[in-house]
Amino acid sequence: MKIVKLPKEKLAEFLSCLRAFGEIHAPTKRGEKSHVFAPLKEPAGIELDYTRTILPLKKYFLPPMETMFNFQAEKGYETPAEESDKKYIIFGVHPCDIHSLKILDLVFGGKYVDGHYFSRRSKAAIIGLDCIPDEFCFCRSTGTDFVDDGFDLFLSDIEDSYLVRVGTSLGDDMVKAADTLFQEVTVQDREKYKKKSIQRGQSFQSEIQLQDLPEIMDLEYESQIWQELGEECLGCGTCSMVCPTCYCYAVFDELNLDAASGQRIRRWDSCLFKDYALVAGGHNFRAQRSSRVKNRYFHKQRGFVSQYGRPSCVGCGRCKEYCPAGVDIIEVVNKLRSETRV
Ligand code: SF4
Ligand code: SF4
Repeated sequence: MKIVKLPKEKLAEFLSCLRAFGEIHAPTKRGEKSHVFAPLKEPAGIELDYTRTILPLKKYFLPPMETMFNFQAEKGYETPAEESDKKYIIFGVHPCDIHSLKILDLVFGGKYVDGHYFSRRSKAAIIGLDCIPDEFCFCRSTGTDFVDDGFDLFLSDIEDSYLVRVGTSLGDDMVKAADTLFQEVTVQDREKYKKKSIQRGQSFQSEIQLQDLPEIMDLEYESQIWQELGEECLGCGTCSMVCPTCYCYAVFDELNLDAASGQRIRRWDSCLFKDYALVAGGHNFRAQRSSRVKNRYFHKQRGFVSQYGRPSCVGCGRCKEYCPAGVDIIEVVNKLRSETRV
């Protein structure tokens, strides 16, 4: 893989060059402590010293609400006019969030390919950035603390510069378009990179043991732990909304006043919501909060492993940080494990 070096004082200039490749979206501050991915107006507005954004990247590719198609009686249906072909660049994406996109690609590129999702995906370049974990991060345990692919460029902080890994030909074009800003990587740079990697590895404060977890989940299907968790959980759905790998959506029709035409819409949904498993006739397959919260854990740590060979959690820590009831995925897994293993 081609690796070059970008001195930090050249970053603003590089961002200006990148505008030729699309609209730049980057982490920016929201309130005192929070960050969001948003369009970058000025290079000075970028906040690269962040740990996680409130909403992950799925908001770009699976918007919270969208029209899937318009319909009209006797004429059938048509997909909405093509969205603009505008390209954009999402700058400063951490490894766990890049891994989450790889998971969403698997899901939306499966048996029924989701054209809406992939149309947006194809217009976005991803520029990654390394990070320092906080107390909520456990991506090291999920093997998502480092990425080898899934990005166009990836920047690693080595004090006064960034080491830039070039992941795609588009990334290479970006470097070539600003080649006077880049320098060759020296032996000293590699040493700095190794030192930073070791420091980063030592910064992890949380871990989760995933080994044997699918089997433990099966054994603990009837555990009292789910009842206890159902009493703690408020059923607010925040954990699903902020999770980069939760992708459930509800589909409904909105009828126009002529009662003959309308739109089919999809909107983010959560398996924690009370009516998520409500079906025609009024039966609710998961009326109890305990069964809904159990379902979320089983889907991520059991069902997804059966289907895709890996859990659908990237250890970003969002569900733990933003849960108003303090539900902690690491504690839940540890409790389940303690019932089965010594
Ligand atoms: S964020 Fe917490 S309280 Fe809300 S649904 Fe998820 S686990 Fe329950
Ligand atoms: S389950 Fe929690 S830690 Fe895992 S990817 Fe989702 S929000 Fe992040």
